[in-house]
Amino acid sequence: MIIVIDAQANQDERAALLALVERVAGHRRPVATTCIGESEVIAIDQAALDTQALDAIRHQPAVAQILTPTTPYQLVSRHFKASPSRIVVGDARHCDPVIIGGEQAMPVIMAGPCAVESREQLLETARAVKEAGATVLRGGAFKPRTSPYQFQGLGIEGLRLLAEARQETGLPVITEVMEPEMVEVVADYADILQIGARNMQNFPLLQAVGRRGRGKAVMLKRGLSATIDEWLLAAEYIVAAGNPNVILCERGVRSFDPQTRNLLDLACVPLLHELTHLPVIVDPSHATGRRELVPTMARAGIAAGAEGLILEVHPDPNSALCDGRQSITPAELRTIVYEARLMVQIMQDADRLSQVA
Ligand code: PEP
Ligand code: MN
Repeated sequence: MIIVIDAQANQDERAALLALVERVAGHRRPVATTCIGESEVIAIDQAALDTQALDAIRHQPAVAQILTPTTPYQLVSRHFKASPSRIVVGDARHCDPVIIGGEQAMPVIMAGPCAVESREQLLETARAVKEAGATVLRGGAFKPRTSPYQFQGLGIEGLRLLAEARQETGLPVITEVMEPEMVEVVADYADILQIGARNMQNFPLLQAVGRRGRGKAVMLKRGLSATIDEWLLAAEYIVAAGNPNVILCERGVRSFDPQTRNLLDLACVPLLHELTHLPVIVDPSHATGRRELVPTMARAGIAAGAEGLILEVHPDPNSALCDGRQSITPAELRTIVYEARLMVQIMQDADRLSQVA
């Protein structure tokens, strides 16, 4: 159940509403409000309320409206907000801001190495991906690796290098945060906080980026075997904790066939567009694990209607410390960027023509 707060309510009325909601539905925890579009809202579980509590909420002067979505996720649902969310990434004082979602004309292309390996590697890649037409730089400073013996990332030093690359190129940066305790530090450097597939249901981390992510956009990757509902409920955690700027990223799910690293679920893109107002990014690199499949699946992601792509790019993929097998070169990226733009134009023309026909 979504409670829309009356914008005209005074401090006392607001405080009374929050105290009541906390008492009857807060499970002894503070309740957060979130601003979505023009509305300030609180979402709670209606099933937890008896009729008396529900009535008491309805009669609060600070309540403008009560909505009851029929899905388990509420604030991220398209039923609650029909228009696609538009997320502005990057602060104009530090980089060239980028718009993701909404009525954006062109898909956003995020590109860069799997991991920040060194100053030379990152700066060289950052310049090359910018040259190739990418508008967001990716790079992992904290790496969730399957084996404890693999390269774990440069940590804070990696964050500093990303900030340096941003300053030089003007590209906003996306990087992964793995622990709740590190959210503020990563948010000090990054423009988009990435939650990796392995952390999609790390609920303390989701709440931390929601509450303490300094309002930075959060890209939530789909868990290795997460259902769409579990994924949207994970997004709901972030939004309900106060941060509406969530971007979903389909990066493939576990399948039975080891030929590809994962199975890219492209049907989820149009499906998510029906279920949620949040933008969707496709990651053909982690989805396939094979660089020769990346360009085709990048096209497929755009054709499915994704608001953007995230791609792993390395100047010398065979020497990459992480995910070299799926990394493409800057030259290959350039072709993908060109094709993505062309495809969007063709798709827009096709939409127009079919409306006339
Ligand atoms: C990554 O983007 O570098 C990454 C670790 O991806 P995922 O969480 O999707 O495996
Ligand atoms: Mn990777």
